[in-house]
Amino acid sequence: MMQWLLILALIVGIYYFFIRKPHRKESPKKQEEIMVECEKCGIYVSSKEAIIQSGKYYCSKECCLK
Ligand SMILES: [Zn+2]
Repeated sequence: MMQWLLILALIVGIYYFFIRKPHRKESPKKQEEIMVECEKCGIYVSSKEAIIQSGKYYCSKECCLK
């Protein structure tokens, strides 16, 4: 009997997951957070923290300046 409740909860969960998805587009967060590789040292940093210079990503100012 409990198994059916779990399956039902799972279906409802999946249902809400797909229903909610389109609403994410309306969020004010424009920039997606992606992982980018530092041009200098190869460390992966999030695009938010990375320094972009002449179209290349750097993990820190030190890598950027060198
Ligand atoms: Zn670096």
